[in-house]
Amino acid sequence: MKAQPTASHFINGEYVEDTAGKVIECVYAADGSVIARLHGATPAIIDRAFTAALEAQKVWASWLPVERARVLRRAADIIRERNEDLSELETLDTGKAIQETLVADATSGADALEWFSAQAHSLSGESVPLGTDFAYTVREPLGVCVGIGAWNYPTQIACWKAAPALACGNAMIFKPSELTPLCALKLAEIFIEAGAPKGLFNVVQGYGDVGAALSTHKDCAKVSLTGSVPTGGKVYASAAAGMRHVTMELGGKSPMIVFDDADLEDAIGGAMLGNFYSTGQICSNGTRVFVQRGLYGRFLQRLAERTATIRIGDPLDPETHLGPLVSKAQREKVLSYIDKGKAEGARLVLGGDVPSGTLFDKGFYVTPTVFADVTDDMTIAREEIFGPVMAVLPFDDEDEVVSRANATPFGLAAGVFTQDITRAHRVAASLQAGICWINTYNLTPVEIPFGGVKQSGLGRENGKAAMAFYSQLKTIHVALGKVDSPY
Ligand code: NAD
Repeated sequence: MKAQPTASHFINGEYVEDTAGKVIECVYAADGSVIARLHGATPAIIDRAFTAALEAQKVWASWLPVERARVLRRAADIIRERNEDLSELETLDTGKAIQETLVADATSGADALEWFSAQAHSLSGESVPLGTDFAYTVREPLGVCVGIGAWNYPTQIACWKAAPALACGNAMIFKPSELTPLCALKLAEIFIEAGAPKGLFNVVQGYGDVGAALSTHKDCAKVSLTGSVPTGGKVYASAAAGMRHVTMELGGKSPMIVFDDADLEDAIGGAMLGNFYSTGQICSNGTRVFVQRGLYGRFLQRLAERTATIRIGDPLDPETHLGPLVSKAQREKVLSYIDKGKAEGARLVLGGDVPSGTLFDKGFYVTPTVFADVTDDMTIAREEIFGPVMAVLPFDDEDEVVSRANATPFGLAAGVFTQDITRAHRVAASLQAGICWINTYNLTPVEIPFGGVKQSGLGRENGKAAMAFYSQLKTIHVALGKVDSPY
């Protein structure tokens, strides 16, 4: 099997196996072949991971910030040196086009490690004068943090969680999605090479039951989940029972609003990136594209022309834009949404099917799909599809579109395209979303906070804000006088 790792789990600085765990088959989405076979964690593996992480966390937290920062920075450098190999593995793990994985996955992970290495230096508290007394605050690590990943960005998700967690002095146990178990193991190897204590970053494999066991373990201080809203609800509820900290990066059905005065080509570029990049498997995608009536016809015509140029094919071919979906089940789900779109009266502009040809027979491909004349009540305008399916909806005026854009239980992201600077900021202020882009879409540099409101999540990844979600505040009140007691 071409991507078989040494063993399923990476704990305390080494690969570990327990064949009693449930079998996980890693399938290459481009041809349906099994490229690796692993095992989910047993209770013994889970305990072993916590024992190692608890030990390592104590050591790590005692290091100087500059020493911790150096390890994160070295890990970033190693990732960049190995970008080609890591990107190829990411493509095998997910089926995403190598053209993308070379620039958006390991590289983004390296950015996070580099940026949070600098944050490790600047973690500090405040001093509060209190008359003759004073108080000071310190930011302490939480302990052992559990990271649980989705399958669309396995390396990036692992790094986006590990970087702030480790920068704050925590240890991490990371469970990748069962669909993409391979990439995080490489990250675990890299941390050891970069000089991290053994057990600081551990990877255990498994399905949802392992995620649940990790996030309810007595030694788990925090859970950071990237996944769907239903899973988020379960993990949040179990975290509440144990009074654990959480970060929830969940799903979305984000609006992108294109006003008549927008730059047409930029708006179309944003809409295409925000619907077809990573074969549409991005949580923040702008899957409801609202286009003002005056631009609607021209927008659809140019969108169709440009979408027709997307090259769908072998994800390892550097010329390919669009690879397959991650799994057969995901393709079935996406096709069923396309059927619903047609049945409920949306107008199929292009795509909507499985491409034909020998290359596509065994993989999980769906052509880039555009529906026009979509209405707010249609299923494809309400539910997250997580595939290359764009819904275009006409609108007339600003108040109307803002209220329609906000009429969703999700609130991850939003976008507005207009040349009117006042309107751009007014609309951005009115949209219920954790991040709003003006005249661009889906840019997520590690310097800025990312996360959702409403059902789309809690807490923030990236940016300085992330540090608050991986640390806790302690206040120390220092009395300099006598204790004033009536007793
Ligand atoms: P999912 O919810 O099915 O699974 C996510 C992870 O949770 C997997 O590792 C899974 O094994 C684990 N899990 C499942 N049940 C669990 C339980 N009861 N307790 C603990 N862990 C459990 O999601 P998915 O299908 O892997 O990913 C797609 C979803 O992720 C989409 O909804 C997408 O929007 C979302 N997502 C969000 C972001 C973000 O940053 N907001 C990024 C990527 C993906």
